Amino acid sequence: MTDTRFQHRHLLGIQGLGPEEITTLLDIADGYVEQNRSVDKRKNLLRGRTVINLFFENSTRTRTSFELAGKRLGADVINMQAAGSSVQKGETLIDTAMTLNAMHLDVLVVRHPDSGAVKLLSEKVNCAVINGGDGSHEHPTQALLDALTIRRRKGRLSGLTVAICGDVLHSRVARSNIHLLNVMGAQVRLIGPRTLLPSGVERMGVEVFHDMRRGLEGVDVIMMLRIQNERMRGNFIPSIREYFHFFGLDQAKLALAKPDAVIMHPGPMNRGVEIDSDVADDVERSLIREQVEMGVAVRMACLDVLTRHLPNRDGAA
Ligand code: ASP
Repeated sequence: MTDTRFQHRHLLGIQGLGPEEITTLLDIADGYVEQNRSVDKRKNLLRGRTVINLFFENSTRTRTSFELAGKRLGADVINMQAAGSSVQKGETLIDTAMTLNAMHLDVLVVRHPDSGAVKLLSEKVNCAVINGGDGSHEHPTQALLDALTIRRRKGRLSGLTVAICGDVLHSRVARSNIHLLNVMGAQVRLIGPRTLLPSGVERMGVEVFHDMRRGLEGVDVIMMLRIQNERMRGNFIPSIREYFHFFGLDQAKLALAKPDAVIMHPGPMNRGVEIDSDVADDVERSLIREQVEMGVAVRMACLDVLTRHLPNRDGAA
């Protein structure tokens, strides 16, 4: 197997990846988009491989798309929810990992409510680990699928201005996207109320706006974020109504962005809270459906590159 220019054993975050590595993943994913649109969607690249999706938090898109991605590459895929597993009976994360390890799996996809938990697991297992979202830390495959969606529509990432709006404080999607867009040469603006933007965020190389109208002026891409109630302790916004008035994306605010600006959302969307239905369903400008499609292709690319370094595939070491 040829050198993939992606030499990492795990995919734990975007932080630390260089532009070449990101481009490699996006290029490989682009090929899988075509495969997924054809009648015969199945390849045998991962035949004999076992992928386990270990999810300690709810998920719709990420878990399903990892499952589809693994199956389309010919792997055996098993889904484990923390509810229903021994974790509920008090087993530690490490014991769970050791149990899974003894089953000789090849790839473990993990989602966990605590930042850093996926890295900890990766240090204890023999297989490749993919971070499916850890607390408010990182969600690397979301940032990669967002990048692929933008690149396919705009033809590039470099030189674009991307606004990330809403609950940045609790968002792993925002953090991964900030790293990726910075590395790829895009300009990032963060828009939100003071209570929902991390302090010192300017040090991440972004521009900060508390006035959404000003922040949206002339942007190419608008990424909306959900209010992450499950990670909040205390009140961060006065009321949903007020939040939507100031920070919800509607046609009037959208008109301030470039005429060809596109709208994105990682899902799940809360219509009428951070985004108006008119905008979310705008067939010309909303890329929310494409994001889901790109998610499968990106996860296929991640499984592909990470298994290239495992023993016994096409004579690899
Ligand atoms: N689905 C994304 C995540 O898991 C975004 C969200 O939940 O709002 O982080």
